Amino acid sequence: MRTVIKPVNEYMRGKEKCFMHGDLNVHENVLEMIGCTPLVRLNKITKNLKGDFFVKYEAHNPGHSAKDRIALYIIDKAEKEGKIKPGDTIIETTSGNTGFSIAMASAVKGYKCILAVSDKSSEDKISLLRTMGAEVHVCPANVAADDPRSYYEVAKRIHEETPGSMYVNQYFNELNIDAHYLSTGPEIWEQTKGKITHLVACSGTGGTISGTARFLKEKNPEVKVLGIDAFGSILKKYHETGEVDKDEIYPYKIEGLGKNLVPGATDFSIIDKFTKVADAESAFMARDIAKTEGLFVGYTSGAALQGVMQLAEQGEFNENSHVVIIFPDHGSRYMSKIYSDAWMKEQGFTRPETKKNQKEDVS
Ligand code: PMP
Repeated sequence: MRTVIKPVNEYMRGKEKCFMHGDLNVHENVLEMIGCTPLVRLNKITKNLKGDFFVKYEAHNPGHSAKDRIALYIIDKAEKEGKIKPGDTIIETTSGNTGFSIAMASAVKGYKCILAVSDKSSEDKISLLRTMGAEVHVCPANVAADDPRSYYEVAKRIHEETPGSMYVNQYFNELNIDAHYLSTGPEIWEQTKGKITHLVACSGTGGTISGTARFLKEKNPEVKVLGIDAFGSILKKYHETGEVDKDEIYPYKIEGLGKNLVPGATDFSIIDKFTKVADAESAFMARDIAKTEGLFVGYTSGAALQGVMQLAEQGEFNENSHVVIIFPDHGSRYMSKIYSDAWMKEQGFTRPETKKNQKEDVS
């Protein structure tokens, strides 16, 4: 007999029906499996840190990432408002995950899906998008956002040229924040019984951290919100100074984290502090998470936990801390990257001495 999971917020409430259709205990379609992801305790890898650490395991969504939440919410809302109807085209710029989620929702709901992706995205991710029926345009990552070759400009142009199309525009769409405000935030509040003291989340579009934090801070303004940024991205410095420092921008390998422009879907006022993480350390951390906790996660989950280690060194946590770390996606999308020894070697990634010690401690 299947356990009925009680939806914990307004947006998820409609999902009650998905666990019982007539006399069948089934989901009507794959989209009904989105959300209500588990919160999992870290038992070994953080054992030398003060506090309790839990991960919000977003790989448990059917599209294997947190982006399922925004794809479903934004498409549902546009349908309800009469802005799109089946047969229309949904267009997006994406590092892969949002694309997969939109392609999945489009397949179920009957839309054409066109995606402009950066050439930094792994081949695994690009093949997946095509497998899900999306038309994919691969664009150079290291050009300015206003360059006609950039994935923003390519998506904009296709939108203008395609009648009956919607451009999701996750980097500048407030609904990206709302999706997490209405689902991820309430779920974490409920799962921790309000005991959460710190939220740690990667920032790309900023939708996850902003929406989740907005809900949690409404419940308890004392919850500390810690953002993870990448070396090579402007977010941390912009948060501190209100200015975009072009010297902060240089190529890096982590996909989906950080940005070379100020994303309109980030509420910087709600983030208390950012920490920046490096490519190699984040990759080794993702590998360590698999070996110690048995959680097979993506590159940014490694980045998030690397950030937690740095924040712990900065004295952020104590014995009473209940830290929730969002792990945005699944490891399967990175087999040809961080989980390939050859790729790691090609990047010149070597395990720092301190990390070696840390690994011995936890295994
Ligand atoms: N991790 C991965 C793998 C992602 O694809 C993204 C989205 N760019 C993020 C983290 C960051 O999430 P958000 O865009 O909500 O800030």
